[in-house]
Amino acid sequence: MAFSFFGGIHPKENKFYAEGQRVQPFPEPDVLVIPMQQHIGAPCKPLVKKGDPVTVGQKIGDNQGLCVPVHAPVSGTVKAVEMRPHTSGMTVMSVVIENDHLDTPCPDLTPRTPEEVDKLSPEELMNIIREGGVVGMGGATFPTHVKLSSGIGKVDTIIVNVSECEPYIVADDRVCQEYPGDVISGLQVVMKILNLNTAHIALEDNKPEAKRALLSEIDPKTGISVDILPAKYPQGAEKQLIYAITGREVPSGGLPAAVGCAVFNAGTCKAIHDAVYDGMPLVRRIVTVSGDIVMQPMNLMVPLGTSFNDLLDAVGHSQNPYKVLSGGPMMGVAQFDLNVTVTKGVNAVTILGAQNRFYVANPHCIRCGKCMDACPMHLMPLMMYQAERKNDLEELKALNLLDCIECGCCAYTCPAGIPLVQSFRTGKQRLRDAAPPRPAPAPAKS
Ligand code: SF4
Ligand code: SF4
Repeated sequence: MAFSFFGGIHPKENKFYAEGQRVQPFPEPDVLVIPMQQHIGAPCKPLVKKGDPVTVGQKIGDNQGLCVPVHAPVSGTVKAVEMRPHTSGMTVMSVVIENDHLDTPCPDLTPRTPEEVDKLSPEELMNIIREGGVVGMGGATFPTHVKLSSGIGKVDTIIVNVSECEPYIVADDRVCQEYPGDVISGLQVVMKILNLNTAHIALEDNKPEAKRALLSEIDPKTGISVDILPAKYPQGAEKQLIYAITGREVPSGGLPAAVGCAVFNAGTCKAIHDAVYDGMPLVRRIVTVSGDIVMQPMNLMVPLGTSFNDLLDAVGHSQNPYKVLSGGPMMGVAQFDLNVTVTKGVNAVTILGAQNRFYVANPHCIRCGKCMDACPMHLMPLMMYQAERKNDLEELKALNLLDCIECGCCAYTCPAGIPLVQSFRTGKQRLRDAAPPRPAPAPAKS
């Protein structure tokens, strides 16, 4: 049974630009810039230096703790190890590779037969997933092996997220249409690790082709169901999706495992399949390059490290972009330097024209309450905005600002044009800056 979460909106989907476009391989660039920070957690430390040769799939960065390695998507030579711009707006340590276009594979890559995979233990599978650099590919970029290991014994419901409710983006839709067998095989690895016999694949009702493709691959004996949900933004947000499928509410500040759920993106399931069966780490991903001024919207299989400039050149645009976003128009991050490169969490590059400019000088709240009706987290955006303007950190805490998922529903509905989400991001940063440093961990007992 499907539940409907509170609030939400129905923005123009604009998926027609790219939804009929088959995934095309993107021509490999001559130079790739691979950031050492592509996941939530500790950044990788480079394992190569200028002048080193690299091969496809070779590990070029890794670290301890909450971390997954990064790998070379092409073979060639390391041209530099230096700070480069990143989609987050920061500059981060990156490995610059000059592509020799020979595609020489790393000798360490180990493809496995289904019989060999069957014999692997959950621990061995999680290690392969870690070494394959797999993270949540819907944008969260949380290391997948950590989500799996922390879910063992706690999770009773697995959900594959194919909601993809952001306007313009169809990358998950295409992965399900074109690689349904890989998505299901990756999901079966997840089921084996979590020791569960059932799983849900959640799709919005605007993806009939993906539904058909998945159903044609699912053996009824696998215990996998395809659940169709009415399209509503932000259905793909983890907490809203869990409620829609199970009726369970993740508590404030809690994780999905607190209510027995684990959510995996469809692209992540394919990446798990690729790492476990093909022995190929996460070195390329599907990116929807679309927007209202794009001449030829495309879904591209892009080597990680490809620059946004190269993607813009590939699709063309009819006027100077007003905004180029990493992601979609609701939750994407506007880029000021198009030398940034595609990383594991970039599912789309959205290029918008000047007609999307919406700016109100000195906006004033008219207390219409529309933002509260739209907020899927039951928050009070107008009060949060006022508290942020006053820099009232106690009030921001009391209003549960940290529960805000930055979905943008409030700003979308606000008739006064108040930049609510920007204000909440600033407020969250202030709260984090004001938080006392975490106490040092107690020394381990010998
Ligand atoms: S951005 Fe935050 S406050 Fe606004 S609707 Fe989304 S969750 Fe609610
Ligand atoms: S939607 Fe905008 S104008 Fe209406 S109450 Fe919320 S902040 Fe104020």
